Amino acid sequence: MSKAVIALGSNVGDTLSNLKKAVRLLEDAGCRVLAKSKLYLTEPWGYADQDDFLNGAIIVDTELDPLSLLGVTQGIEGKMGREKLFLNGPRNIDLDILLYEEETVEKENLVIPHPRLHQRLFVLMPLNDVASQWKVPGHGKVSELLANYLGDERVILTDLSLD
Ligand code: ADP
Ligand code: MG
Repeated sequence: MSKAVIALGSNVGDTLSNLKKAVRLLEDAGCRVLAKSKLYLTEPWGYADQDDFLNGAIIVDTELDPLSLLGVTQGIEGKMGREKLFLNGPRNIDLDILLYEEETVEKENLVIPHPRLHQRLFVLMPLNDVASQWKVPGHGKVSELLANYLGDERVILTDLSLD
């Protein structure tokens, strides 16, 4: 079994229900959820004219290897009817594999650690909730990445919960 951290994001429809449904579908696919982050409201990145995102992260314990896990997350995105309108555009569900143990993966369709993880506050904050002591290969400890974050993104802690 291996532990992986999956980032969850949604900015279309009932965003909290969307995140919860994705967690349920991950469990159905054999991922045991070990920890759930708090949830954060984030201004959209890259393309501003869309609703704020609800962002979170979970740790899962899984027998799936990284590529099979990507198959599962993409299957869930498909099943939940995610429409890819354009890059960085609105989506009812986005599942990104942030970390897989302390492994590095560099495939055409899968890069772990997730490439811009250390530059995105909306990723670092939920990641730090569940995995502050994890090392991000090539970048150091999650808690240190958060402490050293120098950007100016605004990320608001909500009182919503994945439970
Ligand atoms: P975003 O970068 O906004 O998450 P998408 O969700 O549309 O955009 O993902 C684009 C592509 O990113 C997917 O086709 C997927 O193969 C690739 N990808 C590369 N690394 C990862 C990862 N660690 N987790 C999820 N998708 C990844
Ligand atoms: Mg994605």
